[in-house]
Amino acid sequence: MNVKDLCELAITATDKSYSPYSGCKVGAALLTKGGKIYTGCNIENSSFSPTICAERVAFAKAVSEGEREFKAIAIAAKKDGKLATFTPCGVCRQVMSEFCDDDFTVLVVTSDGIYKEYVLAELLPASFKLD
Ligand SMILES: [Zn+2]
Repeated sequence: MNVKDLCELAITATDKSYSPYSGCKVGAALLTKGGKIYTGCNIENSSFSPTICAERVAFAKAVSEGEREFKAIAIAAKKDGKLATFTPCGVCRQVMSEFCDDDFTVLVVTSDGIYKEYVLAELLPASFKLD
């Protein structure tokens, strides 16, 4: 699985988004170290706090299937039918840090259809971890 294909899966996952409140359709494609892929989309709620981001949906699907080792995640967002650049929220960054090393790859599909590549340590330096 190359990064471009992973980004394409994230873009496709935006189609499943349930986002009647923000109108932002977000998709994620999470690649395990074993080569499996779990996708997710954002699922909003009228009382807002139960809303869950696409990234955390992908992690919940993977972890609930027994996965614990991850290599990369691609994230894509659409607003008004066009690609938009969204980096992961703080809660999702913390979830990533629970299961991933500092060098975990985070690919953010940008509004111009390419992607920007980060590692988790850049997005969440000095993350909270219990030893
Ligand atoms: Zn999030």
